[in-house]
Amino acid sequence: MARIELKQIAHSYLPKPEAESDYALRRHDHVWRDGGAYALLGPSGCGKTTLLNVISGLIQPTEGRVLYDGEDVTDLPPQRRNIAQVFQFPVIYDTMTVYENLAFPLKNRGMDTARIEARVGEVAEMLELTPHLRRRAMALGADAKQKISLGRGLVRSDVAAILFDEPLTVIDPHLKWQLRRKLKQIHERYHLTLIYVTHDQNEALTLADQVAVMVEGEIVQVGTPQDLFEDPQHTFVGYFIGSPGMNILPCAVEPGAAVVGGQRIPLDGRLSDKAGAVQGALELGIRPEYLCLAESSANGAVPVAVKRVEDLGNYKIATLSLGAHTIKAKLPEDQDVPGEQAFLTFPPERTKLYADGRLVA
Ligand code: ADP
Ligand code: MG
Repeated sequence: MARIELKQIAHSYLPKPEAESDYALRRHDHVWRDGGAYALLGPSGCGKTTLLNVISGLIQPTEGRVLYDGEDVTDLPPQRRNIAQVFQFPVIYDTMTVYENLAFPLKNRGMDTARIEARVGEVAEMLELTPHLRRRAMALGADAKQKISLGRGLVRSDVAAILFDEPLTVIDPHLKWQLRRKLKQIHERYHLTLIYVTHDQNEALTLADQVAVMVEGEIVQVGTPQDLFEDPQHTFVGYFIGSPGMNILPCAVEPGAAVVGGQRIPLDGRLSDKAGAVQGALELGIRPEYLCLAESSANGAVPVAVKRVEDLGNYKIATLSLGAHTIKAKLPEDQDVPGEQAFLTFPPERTKLYADGRLVA
């Protein structure tokens, strides 16, 4: 296993990149800890596959260096990087048996037959492929084929890291859940450095100890699911993690308060002092969970119009408007919500400010 370090890494698919938007990966540093289980989460097109391919060596980055345990591997081809990579769609040999497919990466490295048998048996057992070992891969369905692909990624225990690129996309939902648990167990047992790409926040949160969130070619935050929930460093993290996501409202700042839709929302004093000096478009961020309804405008509560209330059993989601802005509040199931007009409290310790999408800390 290895610690993987990306130093000032950037990649453009264009021959002569100029503007920042020409880069699929924007220049940044990042370290993947040895033995860590990471999910790499971000919307389609944000650069997740590009980043994995830079790590594995399928892509030579336009700029920057890739280090494994301090050793510069930027110029080494994938075969010499000792990485296992599992793609979105099965990459297997159709004419080989399941056994031969799983044994292939080990045979290639000259492992003796007895050890290959033991290891293939173990991996097949884990993935419930044992009954199919003697069958040809082409005779199997899409799920089983993708399990073979996963198995080929997992069969070597001496790799520097395993990279998964949305490997459960073609797998049916029930099996998906089962395989996710399996991968987690495998990580716990072997302490592999594992990077798992997904655009599904549930998948990311169940699988990984640490979630790296990527936006427009850059990793903007790495943290535990709780860090990402409590302290989003970027509006995208706030919006993407959580259901519903964080409320993000364009605002202006005055001493002691943010102004949204003509209403003053009290801020932590130090925050409003800082915001006065910050460049860029300001936005207020607050999670639906932290908003409270109030009886009146006392204590800084602001008047809002009630648009809709959905009762979801354990809680209610109220859709409210403040001037031209829509706000979602997650309320206790027994909370009475007035029909048209309500007052909303933004607890200052939970109310965050963002400048050009980044947290004002
Ligand atoms: P993700 O895996 O997050 O969906 P990708 O890394 O595949 O994102 O793509 C990032 C950006 O790079 C996208 O804008 C995509 O269109 C572009 N891109 C990806 N692969 C290529 C390629 N081979 N040639 C040109 N542009 C590409
Ligand atoms: Mg991709």
